[in-house]
Amino acid sequence: MRSISPRVEHPILHLLQKCKTFDTLKQVHAQMITSGLILHTYPVSRILHLSLTLATLSYTMTIFNLVQNPTIFLYNTLISSLVQKGQVHVSISLYNQILACPDHNPNSYTYPSLFKAFGARLLFRNGRTLHGHVLKFLDTPYDSFVQASLLNFYSRCGRIAVARYFFDQIRNPDLATWNSILSAYARNSTSSDLYGSTSSSMEALNLFSHMQMSLIKPNEVTLVALITACAELGAVGQGAWAHVYVLRNNLSLNRFIGTALISLYANLGCLNVAWQVFDELSQKDTLCFNAMIRGLAIHGHGLESLDLFKMMKREGFLPDDVTILAVMSACSHVGLVEEGLEHFESMVVDYRLEPKLEHYSCLVDLLGRAGLLEEAQERIATMPMKPNAIVWRSLLGAARVHGNVEMCEVALKKLVELEPETSGNYVLLSNVYACTNRWSDVKRVRQLMKDHGVDKMPGSSLVEVNGSVHEFLIGDKSHPRAGDIYSKLEEMNMRLQEFSHRPRTREVMFDIEEEEKEGALSYHSERLAIAFALLASDDDDDDGSRRAPTIRIIKNLRVCVDCHSTTKLLSMVYKREIIVRDRTRFHHFSNGTCSCFDYW
Ligand code: ZN
Ligand code: ZN
Repeated sequence: MRSISPRVEHPILHLLQKCKTFDTLKQVHAQMITSGLILHTYPVSRILHLSLTLATLSYTMTIFNLVQNPTIFLYNTLISSLVQKGQVHVSISLYNQILACPDHNPNSYTYPSLFKAFGARLLFRNGRTLHGHVLKFLDTPYDSFVQASLLNFYSRCGRIAVARYFFDQIRNPDLATWNSILSAYARNSTSSDLYGSTSSSMEALNLFSHMQMSLIKPNEVTLVALITACAELGAVGQGAWAHVYVLRNNLSLNRFIGTALISLYANLGCLNVAWQVFDELSQKDTLCFNAMIRGLAIHGHGLESLDLFKMMKREGFLPDDVTILAVMSACSHVGLVEEGLEHFESMVVDYRLEPKLEHYSCLVDLLGRAGLLEEAQERIATMPMKPNAIVWRSLLGAARVHGNVEMCEVALKKLVELEPETSGNYVLLSNVYACTNRWSDVKRVRQLMKDHGVDKMPGSSLVEVNGSVHEFLIGDKSHPRAGDIYSKLEEMNMRLQEFSHRPRTREVMFDIEEEEKEGALSYHSERLAIAFALLASDDDDDDGSRRAPTIRIIKNLRVCVDCHSTTKLLSMVYKREIIVRDRTRFHHFSNGTCSCFDYW
């Protein structure tokens, strides 16, 4: 096969470019054969690319198969064109042909499109094998496209540490590279349960500040990642900054940024701002509706959430599994058991969606809240997949609130089996036995905990004050203003006592603490965070009578009963709204009540 410089524009190639149908393509193909142009690599690569659009796959492959001794360039361009057209399997078999061919080895241009295809389809094992080939066939340092495609592949597949390794190798990352690493961290922060991984979100913000120091200007994709990280961290200041950045820099408030902003403001409990963004979006899609429906549901506005769902269907948007999950949890919040069950059934019947574990977990929550514990247990027994820890935890929550000791034990035993390293489960199980005076079982559980080498997980709370995020641990005295914080805590206790509040003690049935409390003067982390936030607004008080901002806290463990009742009272005594996101849900404290109605 001869090669021809791509810059030479042959009249037949000119005709080829003008082809709009399969028939004209065939005519030009014939001319290429008679003129001998088909013997040159570049013209063949052009007709192959166009043929994938205008002709059939088999016609394209026939053209290719008739080429004698195709060059590696031709293989690479066809692989890339096939990937663009979604023909990933054909591109893989073509890659295998290169491997089988004694004259060729894959080169730097072979891999990027394949990694892109594997990343987009989350074909992790195929991609990892391909990475092995990169190590075998390519010399280091790799070409920047190969590095970027490896980074992108691993970040898409959620292998954040490997992605970061490749990112750190790239000397001057371009916008696309920054975006893939930032998006990886942002995705990682939302992938696990509600608490997500704050360290990923923190790292996204950290990297973004590095990006700003380089000369690369962020675009819409960057902002989506940044806003998502802020939403996970509850970082109101940084999130609002990102919103302003979008407006000031004439970036388009597209539906991706819109969805991220709605989630941000909904997570922060600013539902009116979330509504405002939602209304401003000129183009909405299912994801925008999902974010708003979910936002309303998690803050206990079940009926509004269901109204929006009706509007979504009226406007012709097709619900997906996330929508149904949000709608079911809305029903659960307002106790609409029948309606919740109907939505669950409609998934399969009306929308042909396969219920996932989350849907079953929500179903158990829905039935459990309404006290239908037998039905909930029945659903777990008959679900088509193996119930995971989240499902059992939903049953546990219901059994706990309705005081069903036997069912608590069933759920907890499963939890200890499924998550042998989670201390909270052992503590809960041991407490259930203690309540029923089964001391030998208590001993057994403690021993089991020792055998597994389980330590209690340290509780931590994040709170944002004046634009920076502060972290508090239990009984933390490391904060620069620790002295002031502890005096504030004393003042808070005094004010609480005026309302004859007594701290709850262990003998209350099912008062379960996942978090260690050493001595009476040691406070759980959220209490310190609240004290610090109150202290910060005391400092601001002098400059007029502006409304004190909502206190927003993110906690890594479940809020304990004592802190929950105290926070309710604090919201009344200090006339402040306090929003705590714990490991399982949002608690919106205001005027002495909580949006979870004491069920969490
Ligand atoms: Zn607590
Ligand atoms: Zn609550």
